[in-house]
Amino acid sequence: DQSITKQVKKYKLVFIGDQSVGKTSIINRFINDSFQGTQQPTVGIDFVAKTLHLDNKTIRLQLWDTAGQERFRSLIPSYIRDSDAAIIVYDITNQASFASVNKWLDYVREERGDGVLIVLLANKLDLPDQRAVQTVDGQQFAKQQNLIFSEVSAKEGNNINDVFKNLAQLLQGSE
Ligand code: GDP
Ligand code: MG
Repeated sequence: DQSITKQVKKYKLVFIGDQSVGKTSIINRFINDSFQGTQQPTVGIDFVAKTLHLDNKTIRLQLWDTAGQERFRSLIPSYIRDSDAAIIVYDITNQASFASVNKWLDYVREERGDGVLIVLLANKLDLPDQRAVQTVDGQQFAKQQNLIFSEVSAKEGNNINDVFKNLAQLLQGSE
């Protein structure tokens, strides 16, 4: 029935960030509610989709996974260009992955300007003993840069569903 299909809004979310920060694991947690200790490194770019029911509206999120490897860097601009939101992920146990957020942010802003919704996810919240990036540092950076911020764990599932639900609501509200 076309009148129903028409009401389903589709949004493209692109995942970026250094290799091994947990991009594929976060997607896998949200889509399948599962976690694998060993993920195959993502080759190139692929997406999965999930339908969310918010209030009385139905929306479909397309989650585009990618690889952080330098050799795929040439793919990044076209991948970001037609996105509705960018999800930049870092690993709280890896300071270098947090430092890289600036670079990923530049890529997004070069392609999409300042108006695009950007979510900053600090992953691996389940490893507090190995924490190298403090919560407040992520929060402050996000505030300065006007990003939505959350600390998550793909392993334990903390905050994952809430992040996507909030993002979906914001995307819908910005129409
Ligand atoms: P990607 O390269 O950004 O896609 O990262 P992956 O999803 O492949 O994850 C890299 C490694 O970190 C894998 O061994 C995952 O099992 C592990 N990992 C991902 N998320 C978490 C998490 O929330 N907690 C812990 N402890 N390990 C994680
Ligand atoms: Mg991956």
